[in-house]
Amino acid sequence: LGAPGCGKGTQAEFLASSLGVPAISTGAMLRDAVALGSALGSKVEGIMASGGLVDDGLMAEVVRERLGRPDASGGFLLDGYPRTTGQAATLDSILEERQEKLDAVVLLEVPETVLVERAVARKRADDREEVVRERLRVYREKTEPLVEHYERRNLLRRVDGNRTMREVTAASLKMLGRQA
Ligand code: AMP
Repeated sequence: LGAPGCGKGTQAEFLASSLGVPAISTGAMLRDAVALGSALGSKVEGIMASGGLVDDGLMAEVVRERLGRPDASGGFLLDGYPRTTGQAATLDSILEERQEKLDAVVLLEVPETVLVERAVARKRADDREEVVRERLRVYREKTEPLVEHYERRNLLRRVDGNRTMREVTAASLKMLGRQA
């Protein structure tokens, strides 16, 4: 979990490779669908460009299909999912069906001023400043409630994301009880 620009995507890759599981990024999957011009891509393109969230039902299909692939059978790290309380409930039911459980939720914490600077420097299609601000607003409104949700379940691991990439990876692994 973390606001747009917090470094989730980068850290997900590093952590997943240290942990020997695939990093499953819903944002990257959707961007690929847009680039391919698939049916999914055309459904989500406008929503993504405006900084909004793709609806929970569609995301449930995307995630369920992805987790059904063989590489996810021995565990996985999700990047960018769940993003709403509805998605958290969907994830719970997917995990229950698979007789798996969530081990931990890493929250990367980065001050808002740094988030905007980083996101604008990144120059992705949805990284124009107005869109970045909208994505931050959506994060606060829809996704931030998950922090308390997972805190109550004792799954939340807070990591200071305002450090070098290496430091953030090492701190995250430590929080997960692993060595860097
Ligand atoms: P990200 O790369 O995680 O920042 O995602 C980029 C964009 O993809 C978001 O701003 C949303 O429009 C869309 N997206 C990615 N993951 C989700 C999700 N779990 N639920 C809804 N929309 C998503």
